[in-house]
Amino acid sequence: MTHPFLDLAPLTAARFAEIERRVAALLSTGHDVVITQGEALLPLEGCIRSGARPGSTALNVVTGPYGQTFGNWLRDCGAAVVDLEVPFHTAVTAEQVERALAEHPEIDFVSLVHAEAATGNTNPVAEIGEVVRAHGALFMLDAVASVGAEPLLPDAWGVDLCVIGAQKAMGGPAGVSAVSVSPRAWERFAANPAAPRRSYLSLLDWKERWIDGGRRALLHAPAQLEMLALEACLERIEAEGPDAVMGRHASAAAATRAGAVALGGGLEPYVFAEREAAPVATTLRTPAGVDASALVAKALAVSPGVPLVAGGGALAAEMIRVNHYGQDAAPEVVAACLTALGGALADAGTPVDVAAAREAAASAWHA
Ligand SMILES: *Cc1c(COP(=O)(O)O)cnc(C)c1O
Repeated sequence: MTHPFLDLAPLTAARFAEIERRVAALLSTGHDVVITQGEALLPLEGCIRSGARPGSTALNVVTGPYGQTFGNWLRDCGAAVVDLEVPFHTAVTAEQVERALAEHPEIDFVSLVHAEAATGNTNPVAEIGEVVRAHGALFMLDAVASVGAEPLLPDAWGVDLCVIGAQKAMGGPAGVSAVSVSPRAWERFAANPAAPRRSYLSLLDWKERWIDGGRRALLHAPAQLEMLALEACLERIEAEGPDAVMGRHASAAAATRAGAVALGGGLEPYVFAEREAAPVATTLRTPAGVDASALVAKALAVSPGVPLVAGGGALAAEMIRVNHYGQDAAPEVVAACLTALGGALADAGTPVDVAAAREAAASAWHA
């Protein structure tokens, strides 16, 4: 018996290279793109282990939980790490980055998350890229939560390593990711004796055996299902148009924010300034005394399937994430989330105005 996921024809090197080319087009990059066959933590760890070494000094910008993970990898590589931490309800500024670079002229690596789905903020990468370029450090960007949701121009912004994953705004699978690598980054990796080689974490292996070989022979059997799913989501984005996809995400964020405020009941945008709020997902702060995890559980019991989740770790008590990304960046999904949250708050005895919330969301969507 045939099955849609099974008995697939082998994925050819030519088709693999074509998918890479389409990822490069999505990122408007002329740099090499390496598709990594694993969740985005694979290229992120690969970039850090290739770029950092004993003797390196890294500026690690922490605007959410992923920054903490990067800092741990950097220290594990023997690098000295300067952590620039900003409160999760805000974004980092180019001035803060510039000051840290001036205080530590030895910094040769900068890691930054563009948008944080986990905390709902987005950082001004174009401005930060300018100060990093002036300083001369290698610049790694985690753009997993921004790609497809908001403008992302790694070459124009001086990003040496731009990591993306398909599972957020691209609406694709979580098991495949990609990174664009600047010529400067390749030089830095090649000069690092500690960079992974002959390893699943190795980006240099892909450079030497795939890219430099003219993209004719893959290093191992490709992850067919993930590659086909990545190809399908690129096709869908190309058909809708990347600007339209980004527009949906911006509208979903604006509608959710306006709707939550109009709902009442004490819900507040977690990220104070709207321009620092990420288009990929909107985070909300619950009023004092209302546990976010319990509220989300109640909302999901009545409306299973709406993309609501409580914050991770210590944020679980006070943060609600509305994950309006991919196909969920849609007006009816935002309305369903607001209705579900309103119902859960009302159930707990908090006065809310669901009709006003839906109306505010609809008008913000079209604004
Ligand atoms: C979602 C996301 C990732 C990927 O991590 P998951 O644990 O698979 O969700 C990486 N970086 C950022 C900034 C993300 O938002």
